[in-house]
Amino acid sequence: MNSETIKRQNASRLSNVNPILAEKCRAIIALAESEGFSLIVTCGFRSNKEQNRLYSIGRRGVPDEKKVTNARAGQSNHNHGTAVDFAFVVNGEISWNAKLYQNIGRWAKIVGLSWGGDWRDFKDYPHVEL
Ligand SMILES: [Zn+2]
Repeated sequence: MNSETIKRQNASRLSNVNPILAEKCRAIIALAESEGFSLIVTCGFRSNKEQNRLYSIGRRGVPDEKKVTNARAGQSNHNHGTAVDFAFVVNGEISWNAKLYQNIGRWAKIVGLSWGGDWRDFKDYPHVEL
């Protein structure tokens, strides 16, 4: 994906979350850019239906499937527009290189957001919230 696609997706996915959160996320994206990193918003607002679908992953009897969330519908801050997930784009592809994601925590602290990587029972490194 190119930088235009990333910009468009980021604008669209930050358009329906809490405006203060959106502003802080734009600041994170700018901080990342200033350090030579490219961030894409993979999730902003999430419907209750989609939340329940995610909750079922790892709990529906599919062998070796891992849980992706402990939150049911209404329990995730994504359902209330107060959480955003980021991914790094490296050479046009999304990268899940764990080392990169420590930066999200650093940037979240700079702009005053909580980071999912600080959670005790379920670490969520791409996740930031108000
Ligand atoms: Zn999240």
